Amino acid sequence: MSRIYNFSAGPAILPEETIKEAQEKLYDYQGCGMSILEVSHRGKEYAAVHEELKANLKKVANISDEYALLFLGGGATTQFATVPMNLRGEGQSADYVHTGAWAGKAIKEAKVLGATNVVADTSKETPARMPDASAIQSTAGAAYLHITSNETIGGTQWRSYPRVEAPLVADMSSDIFCRPVDINSFGLIYAGAQKNLGPAGVTLVIIRKDLAERVSDKIPNIFRYKSHIAQDSLLNTPPCFSCYMLMLTTRWIMKEGGLAAIGKRNEEKAAKLYAAIDSTDFYRGTASPESRSIMNVTFRLPSEELEAKFIKDAAGQNMKGLKGHRDVGGIRASIYNAFPAAGVDALIAFMKEFEKANG
Ligand SMILES: *Cc1c(COP(=O)(O)O)cnc(C)c1O
Repeated sequence: MSRIYNFSAGPAILPEETIKEAQEKLYDYQGCGMSILEVSHRGKEYAAVHEELKANLKKVANISDEYALLFLGGGATTQFATVPMNLRGEGQSADYVHTGAWAGKAIKEAKVLGATNVVADTSKETPARMPDASAIQSTAGAAYLHITSNETIGGTQWRSYPRVEAPLVADMSSDIFCRPVDINSFGLIYAGAQKNLGPAGVTLVIIRKDLAERVSDKIPNIFRYKSHIAQDSLLNTPPCFSCYMLMLTTRWIMKEGGLAAIGKRNEEKAAKLYAAIDSTDFYRGTASPESRSIMNVTFRLPSEELEAKFIKDAAGQNMKGLKGHRDVGGIRASIYNAFPAAGVDALIAFMKEFEKANG
């Protein structure tokens, strides 16, 4: 059986060699007589995975010792609640930028527990876009400013980030490590792994350690970053297998030449696909050009009937996962780090053929 081109938004494509490596090592991990799925998270086999994972991430993204790395369960959605619980003090407010479906969900959770300011809102605009980063200001006394670096559904992405008084918090679930990132300009970054990092089950949190000190003792221990940091992210059983896969992904990133090389490749893949969309009126990109995502490429065809046929015909040519999110419809091609350039070329060739036959 050969692998298909998987354009799914998440869980999404993984580097083929990480899957093969995991498969090969699965039954008897390094001769220990057990699989990595079966070993204790306090034992030496898992300890080595945990240490390599942290070391590789620090190297790949140039993360200083001012920051802690946490590998948590519950998905990015849990972070929507955990961030305000930990970082917003009593009587304090927090700033959010509303840019679409995912930012909206983060705002909704933040409002449950305290004062939440929406300092900019592009969520209702067509075409979809991100606000001008240089125009964003934080509210006086706000605990932090939260952004969604890439709107997975709308297909928009920040090109540069706001620089504000308050610590910057980013949901980077769908574009983390898609290119080099200056960790030092963030107070906290979180990302569910299943888009651009690995399989579902683990959420990576990169947090400046001093921010974790703010937490009130009214917050249950399990939800405190401070407690997870004190236990080196082994407060309870981590999602071991997902962390192992994430570790393999970090090895792959290094082997590919690091984030600069990955970023260059991502820019090239996206530029080609957007150029194909722009070359005809048959396809219409839904994001404003300056905010176009290099991870999730969203576009429409002249009718919903044609979109349905496009998705069906593409699947017949081993290109799957192209259906847009159910809330917005249309086509979405997710071309994460692990998605090969050859798959983008195949999609572009298919688009040309499809237009010729149906345009
Ligand atoms: C997928 C996604 C989420 C939700 O992640 P879960 O791990 O399912 O909770 C949050 N934010 C963004 C930007 C996403 O793409």
